[in-house]
Amino acid sequence: MAITYLKKAAPRPSTENKDIRDIVAIMLANIEREGEAAVRDYAERLDGWTGEIALSAEARKAACARVPEDLKDDIRFAHANIRRFAEAQKATMGECEIEVMPGLIAGQKQIPVGSAGCYVPGGRYSHIASALMTITTAKVAGVPHITAVSPTRPNVGIPDAIVFAMELSGADLILNLGGVQGIAAMAKGYFGGKPADILVGPGNSYVAEAKRMLFGEVGIDMFAGPTDSLVVADHTACAETVAWDLVSQAEHGTDSPVWLVTIDKGLADTVMASVAAMIDSLPESNGAAARTAWHERAEVVLCDSREEAAQVADGYAPEHLQVQAEDLDWWLGRLSAYGSLFLGKETTVAFGDKTSGPNHVLPTSGAARYTGGLSVHKFTKTVTWQRCNAAASHELALRTARISRVEGMEGHARAADLRLRKQPA
Ligand code: NAD
Repeated sequence: MAITYLKKAAPRPSTENKDIRDIVAIMLANIEREGEAAVRDYAERLDGWTGEIALSAEARKAACARVPEDLKDDIRFAHANIRRFAEAQKATMGECEIEVMPGLIAGQKQIPVGSAGCYVPGGRYSHIASALMTITTAKVAGVPHITAVSPTRPNVGIPDAIVFAMELSGADLILNLGGVQGIAAMAKGYFGGKPADILVGPGNSYVAEAKRMLFGEVGIDMFAGPTDSLVVADHTACAETVAWDLVSQAEHGTDSPVWLVTIDKGLADTVMASVAAMIDSLPESNGAAARTAWHERAEVVLCDSREEAAQVADGYAPEHLQVQAEDLDWWLGRLSAYGSLFLGKETTVAFGDKTSGPNHVLPTSGAARYTGGLSVHKFTKTVTWQRCNAAASHELALRTARISRVEGMEGHARAADLRLRKQPA
């Protein structure tokens, strides 16, 4: 491949991930030892929250009443699209029953997990959409108990619009908690919840690490940390649109990489020349995050052909992948590693983040190599069953006993032999 990096990301400090791992391990150990008291302590120290942890029915109602009606309409619009898409996913989940051989029937069932913990990030921004994406999808999957947490604002608690989105989506319990302490409280079932069978939702590096460390004790959706986005563009793309799509995703945080892969040098030059002014035009704190993300994490790659660009894009395995190029069907068929794909200049990751329907909780940091995003499937266990008649049992027992003895597994062989005696052919 003959690719040229017109811009490269700065090397990341090698201790960065280890520091976060150490902090999270200590926090989880303290919470394991001291329970709810440690959770309250972290809520106060990290987020300045000393109020109630579990929201009462009255508090939920009051928060919803404070949300302006036009904002409620927008949230309901997004909720309807997300629910529609999740319902379509559910319809594709297969149950089956077949006669594997005469007399042996086997099948597959889909069973929702008993409880889910939904993390709604809220440190830097109020991620209303993450409440809709996680809770709605769990609800459509049929999860009977859903706990949701989100970071508090000092003296306010969870922002009203997030509480409204949680309520609309069907959260059974809402906890005024963010970060590692929120994740741990859901895993343990503290403050009146049920211990979560699965923890889902995006979050910063502390949240992602806490989920990773708790995996095994509970299920997790995936590694969903700081967001990342890649735009593939050819000569037909509009440089201004490409640049804004990159800037809008860099706004997520200083650790949110954005990448441009293009086969048009002129487009790359125009995009790189226009990004700084766009960032400067954002409100200062958003701009500061985007500026650092652009300077330290962004990359611009020039390729010779669209096939080469597709290979480079697959190599990044980005969370979000936008294609602004000719022949969108070719790209849809060719690309194979991404969390969610946005085809054409008419759409943008921002639509997927907020309102369009496919889930925005997506694999980051290259995890799109081995998993897709949050879906009803993640809340559902695909389990199997079997039963057989006496004739089938006889046939299976003969062969099972022989294979078991070759393997040296005498106990298995005797369990099979017993069937031969009890169910003669
Ligand atoms: P967050 O809710 O993930 O984290 C805030 C919490 O972090 C706080 O409540 C605090 O308790 C904890 N925290 C902060 N500093 C800490 C420290 N030094 N030690 C221990 N805990 C600490 O909110 P955020 O920080 O704004 O991050 C949101 C993240 O979610 C961003 O990285 C964004 O890119 C990502 N995101 C991803 C997706 C996706 O689908 N992948 C979607 C939306 C947002």
